[in-house]
Amino acid sequence: MAELSIPVLYSAEDIRDRIDELAHEISQNMSGEVMIVSLLRGSFMFTADLIRAMYHIGVQPQIDFMTLSSYQGAQSTHEVTINRDITDSVSGKTVLILDDILETGRTLSYATKLLKERGAKELKIAVLLEKPGKLDVDVRADFVGFKVPDKFVVGYGLDYDNHYRELPYIGYLEIH
Ligand code: 5GP
Ligand code: MG
Repeated sequence: MAELSIPVLYSAEDIRDRIDELAHEISQNMSGEVMIVSLLRGSFMFTADLIRAMYHIGVQPQIDFMTLSSYQGAQSTHEVTINRDITDSVSGKTVLILDDILETGRTLSYATKLLKERGAKELKIAVLLEKPGKLDVDVRADFVGFKVPDKFVVGYGLDYDNHYRELPYIGYLEIH
């Protein structure tokens, strides 16, 4: 029978340290009031930890959430839809979009275009993870937590079939 294991790529401690650094990078590169738009569900844990790291260095962002879907199982489908929209207006605001992972770029490209059309004054992107070499649209993250190899990663908010989000570390699915 096939057995599944989840080898660790980044431990809870690695993640905590990197998020503290990211909070500093963000505060040094974004001035004034910042509104965070967190893309659910994958980035809920990243968002919760990043905003607490921001608190410790005196950044006081506004926060809203949006659920986009573009992914089915382990294969990226090529359409992005809004399942749940933000509540607040982004018009005239400096916005920081947070996502769990940048792969083909379609999700973030869609989100960026949408929030620009709605009048965001300045837009930056922070992702916890980036899978290099997989982009098929032109989008760039301003802040990146970690690069990951071309494997299906789970944990720390990222799922496989809505499982493994609770893992405090980031690992990848390995089937033996
Ligand atoms: P993109 O639109 O950049 O292709 O994909 C971004 C979305 O696909 C992410 O927000 C995430 O939900 C999902 N995704 C891409 N790669 C992975 C992966 O390795 N593991 C998991 N769990 N989700 C992924
Ligand atoms: Mg996602």
